[in-house]
Amino acid sequence: ELLEITDRILADLPRVARTGGKAAIYIGNGHAAWEAALANTLAAGDLVLVLSTGRFAKGWGQMAETLGLRAEVMDFGTAAPVDADRLEARLRADGGAEVKAVLTVHTDTASSVRNDIAAIRSALDAAGHPALLMVDCIADLACERFEMDDWGVDVTVSGSQKGLMTPPGLSFTFHGARAAEARARLPRVSSYWDWVPRTEPEIFYQKFCGTAPTHHLYGLSEALTMILEEEGIEAVWARHRVMANAVWAALEGWGAAGPLRCNVEDRAHRSVAVTSVRTGEADAEALRGWCDREAGLTLGVGLGLDGPAAGSRTEGLFRIGHMGHLNPPMLLGTLATIEAGLKALGIPHGDGALSAATTVIAKAGS
Ligand SMILES: *Cc1c(COP(=O)(O)O)cnc(C)c1O
Repeated sequence: ELLEITDRILADLPRVARTGGKAAIYIGNGHAAWEAALANTLAAGDLVLVLSTGRFAKGWGQMAETLGLRAEVMDFGTAAPVDADRLEARLRADGGAEVKAVLTVHTDTASSVRNDIAAIRSALDAAGHPALLMVDCIADLACERFEMDDWGVDVTVSGSQKGLMTPPGLSFTFHGARAAEARARLPRVSSYWDWVPRTEPEIFYQKFCGTAPTHHLYGLSEALTMILEEEGIEAVWARHRVMANAVWAALEGWGAAGPLRCNVEDRAHRSVAVTSVRTGEADAEALRGWCDREAGLTLGVGLGLDGPAAGSRTEGLFRIGHMGHLNPPMLLGTLATIEAGLKALGIPHGDGALSAATTVIAKAGS
């Protein structure tokens, strides 16, 4: 049974990432897939260009440095996507193709910025630059449309615990032909991270470099059935867009007479998987505390985006996660609970937020 489930998962995962390339499964969290992607494509001393729109691409770049790679960060702030023109200019200036890979995230889970991966690919192409394009799609695979092959992505990494609705503990790399060539050029890759035996095994245990993570595989198998067979991936993406629109409608309603704002002003650049909320002078930790204590609702901590506090819990920021297994009662319950917290704490807010959110849901269902 396990052999069959594993084969099905390995066939289904690329359908979710929309690639004809190969999926490797690692028993580890997202950080494991970060390391696997780097270990299979790059050698010590290679330069990677890190496109930062929050915290997560930087984290990937820092890991690259611990592997002996050199990382150059291009910082695009914490509320806007990668500027493809700036990227193109940087790559044009790299006539000797010193940059071996461009690392970026689809959704930055701290800022809730979503990057336009096709535009980033176009920048590489316009500059005629051969660097690999590697995308962290951990936060929003199976939430947001992601087209690995159509967008020209060479390596995608993801994890089990977000849009894929499975407990943390599995992560994935997806790679296409150019990444496979980069792997083939390396003199050696740690046998644990090497994606070759995992994707072209001679014997079953090589798929996991050891014992299979049986329970996670059962969970993931069910999640993939739900996504691909029962709901359909296009419908999954559409559902997440409706849920995100409802969150944003509520935030507009609250923000009409108070300090709450989406961190990302332009809807076109917001992730449908998570929304980072700025609370201005209002105390985000007090609101999180109230929701947790009084209602059992856990809101996401603000992952420090501003200067020296980065990495710590910041005061004026919290996050609403709306990824994965989510339906209107769960989401509307969340929004209504937040509103109760705003009332209880005397945080100023506009009146029409919940009505606006229910209107979004109503229209989507008609
Ligand atoms: C969650 C997340 C990670 C890290 O995943 P872990 O499973 O915690 O290692 C990396 N990148 C992004 C974009 C994420 O959302």
